[in-house]
Amino acid sequence: MAKRVVILLFEEILDYCALPEILALSLTSKYLRERGKEYLRKAFTNLLGCWVDDPSEMSKLMIQTGSVLSGSNVLSFISRASHWTAQDMDLYVPTGQPATTMLSFLMREQYKRTTSAPPPNGAYLTIGHNIRHIHKLSKTVLGEDGVTSGTRSIDVVECFSQRSVLPIFCFHSTLVMNWISPTEIVVLYPSLTFNKIGLNHHLCKGTSASMLKKRLWKNKYTSRGYCSAESMAELERPCGTACPSLIRSTRDIGTLYVSLEEGKAAHSPPKVEWALLVGDIKGAAAVVPCGNPRCPRAANFCKLETRQ
Ligand SMILES: [Zn+2]
Repeated sequence: MAKRVVILLFEEILDYCALPEILALSLTSKYLRERGKEYLRKAFTNLLGCWVDDPSEMSKLMIQTGSVLSGSNVLSFISRASHWTAQDMDLYVPTGQPATTMLSFLMREQYKRTTSAPPPNGAYLTIGHNIRHIHKLSKTVLGEDGVTSGTRSIDVVECFSQRSVLPIFCFHSTLVMNWISPTEIVVLYPSLTFNKIGLNHHLCKGTSASMLKKRLWKNKYTSRGYCSAESMAELERPCGTACPSLIRSTRDIGTLYVSLEEGKAAHSPPKVEWALLVGDIKGAAAVVPCGNPRCPRAANFCKLETRQ
């Protein structure tokens, strides 16, 4: 009986669930797994529809160019937070033709370039962030009341390489180390993020102006019910899979990966390795201990098990 109710009211129930619950309910049967994916694909199209008139074309171009969304928008999407929506959208695109293709599409969508800037350093990104350029676009839209006008802003973040996700590993907080595309959802710190905890990257130390910006960012998330910690020790809990000293991988058990492709079972995402407490994991000796007295690891330089 309960299962029948879930099947009948599946989408309505999912409207009240965050991503982990959506996945848990979807995994109860093969049929619901496909409906869960369909629900998430539709939600993704709806999200794009807040920014562009032709979300299907944008989805197609994102797949073609290997572009992903990241930032506040994605945090709102995976938490299914209906009480707040992000003011702007961050689109990560590979350099060269993919960036040109996405920018041309957005110009056709009436977006105009406001500024174009090199990547900011300090408060938001750590060294080795892999960003070549940030193209800031905006357009004026009619507000919900049909009278007043509002603005839609999109930052097109052009990455140095063909892997548009690389800057995300250098973000200042684990809360925004997530991305979505028409084919996948990836959350790098689900155990913290879905408990509304963000751990700040220790390398994000900039000028006083950038520190002020960082504080404003922190306040924005605190007001949305998230807590932001400078170190794991502040949280008074074991680090688990979110230990900042771990050499992590997009394929380990600590990463939440959801394939949105129809009919396909869980895939592995492209492999990227990183560690929160070091800029470049190639020099693994530079990984520093996490400093949490409740850290379960005697040796701090280890890797998590890879997902099956
Ligand atoms: Zn630890």
